[in-house]
Amino acid sequence: MAALLIVALAVSAEIKYVFYFIGDGMGANQVLGAEMYRSAIKGEPLGRVQTLMTTFPYSGHASSYSKSNGITDSAAAGTCLATGSKTTNGTLGLDEKGEQLKTIAEILKEEGWGIGIMTTVAIDHATPAAFYAHVPTRDAYYTIGEQLAESKFDFFGGAGFHHPNGKNDDKEKNLYRLAEEAGYAVAHGYKEAQEKMDAEKLILVQATDDQGPKHGSNLSYAIDRKEGDLTLTEIVSTAIPFLEKRYDRFFMMVEGGMIDYACHGDDAATAFGEVWDMDEAMHVAYAFYKAHPDETLIVVTADHETGGLALGNSDYTLHLDLLQNQKCSAWVLSDLFTQLFKKNKKPSWEQVKAIYKEYLGFWETVEISAEEEQALKAVYVKAVKGKSKDTKTMYKSINKLGDKGIALLNKKAHIGWTTRAHSAHAVPIFAIGQKAELFSGWKDNTDIAPTILKAIKE
Ligand SMILES: [Zn+2]
Repeated sequence: MAALLIVALAVSAEIKYVFYFIGDGMGANQVLGAEMYRSAIKGEPLGRVQTLMTTFPYSGHASSYSKSNGITDSAAAGTCLATGSKTTNGTLGLDEKGEQLKTIAEILKEEGWGIGIMTTVAIDHATPAAFYAHVPTRDAYYTIGEQLAESKFDFFGGAGFHHPNGKNDDKEKNLYRLAEEAGYAVAHGYKEAQEKMDAEKLILVQATDDQGPKHGSNLSYAIDRKEGDLTLTEIVSTAIPFLEKRYDRFFMMVEGGMIDYACHGDDAATAFGEVWDMDEAMHVAYAFYKAHPDETLIVVTADHETGGLALGNSDYTLHLDLLQNQKCSAWVLSDLFTQLFKKNKKPSWEQVKAIYKEYLGFWETVEISAEEEQALKAVYVKAVKGKSKDTKTMYKSINKLGDKGIALLNKKAHIGWTTRAHSAHAVPIFAIGQKAELFSGWKDNTDIAPTILKAIKE
């Protein structure tokens, strides 16, 4: 009887569905901060509203240093999360000697699994590309796009290609057309994707993509989202039925890519919004797991931490509730100031204050001391003299007035940032489902992909 039971369990324990969530730049503090922020705005500053991921029964941490650097970039980290092998910063899908590495998605594709790769950033950006591309430099976007078309993977979702016609608009073949020739249907937006569910293979991008350079770099931040903007939740909701219809086994990599973008701008409210947004997409995978609990594995981790985010910058208090006064991302705020100065080279201080009031709550719901106002005004005076330079961050140059406003709000919330780059902070791991217990403990990023394969094959 006992032997029979063991056989029955072994049969039911076969993993057929794997969801691999990667929060780009999502350290433990990005998750905990997002939870404490949500509690604080409910009037309970000494608590946390849990994300779905932290309710998962197994968790751990991982180190993320690369083969070349104490602090990894997304290409080396993505390569490691996709293959189990560390490589040098900037490299995708190759080891430090340039030898090609095989990714977990490629291995499973060869074994007949359906494969979906999706993100909130461009589908040729480092993390998604780490699962299908093999190039010595991550910014070889056109080559990465060609390799996407050759990948034979079934589903791609996210913002489009960075440079569909090549970096200098000089390539004969547009990457979308190339993908179509390889059998992909291209859907612009969620609605169009639903009409193309019978396609052999599908690429789902936002409605504004496919229009040349710069359009395809990222979806909207959750904090800036407008009705009709494509979301990660919609992408995951499309990918699951698309893959399930064609395969009895599938693997999905889902990246929350803009947590990193917000953290490169040291912008906590936007970053926390992105953590919650990826968590929302995870609910779709979780509902699938609930329907197939014995056959599904969900693993959540991050490629590295970004920003050196600290919860605390002075004393023993946090004022995370202040962040709710922020009504748009640092990027949008930056554009508002840039546009103001474009319309009028010498706007009044009152006009500048009006933007701070409306989008950060300054002087209205956020108290601003005379000293703080002086500091902001000093930036304004410089800007009026035409001497203010934008703050360069990884993915956008941010108008100094926007940057200073966001920095002040973060400081007042008692958020600290040590860098505009990545850090070597440990990243969290969360897991639920079949063999999820394998993911608990303190690990290195080399352990995760091999452990997923081990879970599938054992
Ligand atoms: Zn990254």
